[in-house]
Amino acid sequence: MATRLTGTVALVTGASSGIGAATARRLAEHGASVALVARREDRLDDLAAEIGKAGGTALAVAADITDRDRAEAAVRGTVEHFGRLDILVNNAGLMLLGPVVGADAEDWERMLAVNVRGLLHTTHAALPHLLAAAEEGPRRVADIVNISSIAGRVAWNGYGVYNLTKFGVNGFTESLRQEVTRRHVRVGVLEPGGVDTELGSHNKPGIQDAMITPFYESTEVLSPEDIADGVAYMVTRPRHASVGELWIMPTDQV
Ligand code: NDP
Repeated sequence: MATRLTGTVALVTGASSGIGAATARRLAEHGASVALVARREDRLDDLAAEIGKAGGTALAVAADITDRDRAEAAVRGTVEHFGRLDILVNNAGLMLLGPVVGADAEDWERMLAVNVRGLLHTTHAALPHLLAAAEEGPRRVADIVNISSIAGRVAWNGYGVYNLTKFGVNGFTESLRQEVTRRHVRVGVLEPGGVDTELGSHNKPGIQDAMITPFYESTEVLSPEDIADGVAYMVTRPRHASVGELWIMPTDQV
């Protein structure tokens, strides 16, 4: 399918599952060449093959984005391979819930490392290429889409450090938007409510039973494709229109 993304290159972090995998598929359908970044290389290879079979172009780039050198190398490898970078989707994330009192501080470090520092590493490495794409690229505009969360808008008991990371992503996104929007790099957040992915599965069994399973059992949640559609909407707007914030909720989630 030839659309506005034909000739562009997109890098999606957290492309080995859930929202990231669906987004990579969708952007490839719209004509972008897609770099798939995450740690599970076998998953990335399978997805790259699937996208290729469907007529798209994808490159698997195994990297732990919490390591600044690896994150920079992932961006550099993408640009070396495809020759440019037009779209960055900062999607990789981790949600470890539970009370602050008595929490395992290592869980906090892991969330801060992926949701905050990882996003900063890829953004910092990608910006020079995005600014160049906005000057010379096929669309003369470039995009950063940060996947935040409803938890970046609303705080809940038991979500403390996850809330901290996603509120932080929202603030950083708007500040960066103001910095680079006049240079035609559009920067926006997409804030999903509940989506059917592996996100909750990394929690300890007691937390899953108390905080995650009851929600998923009582709610008709979103699919990863619903969020991929939102990302595609944001990055296919005409050059003069920038979507700074997109909030997508399951209809029956309050
Ligand atoms: P998944 O757990 O399915 O996906 C998370 C992705 O992040 C995986 O591809 C994982 O790949 C990647 N990732 C984790 N750590 C790293 C790392 N150190 N380096 C590189 N990649 C990493 O969950 P979702 O698809 O749901 O999550 C995607 C985003 O959506 C997250 O930012 C999450 O906070 C957000 N979100 C999700 C919601 C939901 O209900 N599911 C709701 C609101 C927001 P690998 O393990 O292979 O490295």
